[in-house]
Amino acid sequence: MAAIYQAACSACDYTSLKQSDGYLAVILDRPSPLTHAHPEDRRVVILAHPVESMILSEMGVSFRTTCHEGRLLYVREVMCRSCGTMYEIRRLGAGGSALGGRGWLSILAIAMLVGALVGQQQNSIIFGLIAGCLASLALSAIIERIVCRSIRRRYPRRVAEFDRGPGCPKCGGQEYAGFRSGWRKLVCPGCGRRSVRIRYVAKS
Ligand SMILES: [Zn+2]
Ligand SMILES: [Zn+2]
Repeated sequence: MAAIYQAACSACDYTSLKQSDGYLAVILDRPSPLTHAHPEDRRVVILAHPVESMILSEMGVSFRTTCHEGRLLYVREVMCRSCGTMYEIRRLGAGGSALGGRGWLSILAIAMLVGALVGQQQNSIIFGLIAGCLASLALSAIIERIVCRSIRRRYPRRVAEFDRGPGCPKCGGQEYAGFRSGWRKLVCPGCGRRSVRIRYVAKS
């Protein structure tokens, strides 16, 4: 389930479109005829929630090959703190699935080994289980980061072409607010006053 947000001004009638705080997308070599293609660049196909796997199969690709070939794009919707313009921050990345089944099995084996050693040393099954869980979380986070970095290094041209921001396309401001940090008032693109709040409105 993806959360849907909307920005609204309390001083004028400005309201933004209802949209999620981010999404995953697939980069293709040619413009796609699919309805989920990005309206500004049809080579970017949005993996809309909850039909991600249907869109992938329409393109004839798997999530794993998408990650592996450096075609997965992480997109975050943000609002400029200086002028209130909404824009996308994009970053080429790779999900953990780029690692493959064998990689994850190795992580699991190492985590179980850590858990067994700690449990034996502390003479406690619970300590062992906690240590095993923490080890698997830490290892998967580290490995995801390494995989992501190596994919970005392998496809520098795509990184240069598709990475975007942070930086407001209207005023160049570098500071932005994510949709989840909606407790603070932001600048209204309609009236210019600091009277906009981003609110959670629904789940999609
Ligand atoms: Zn701006
Ligand atoms: Zn306003």
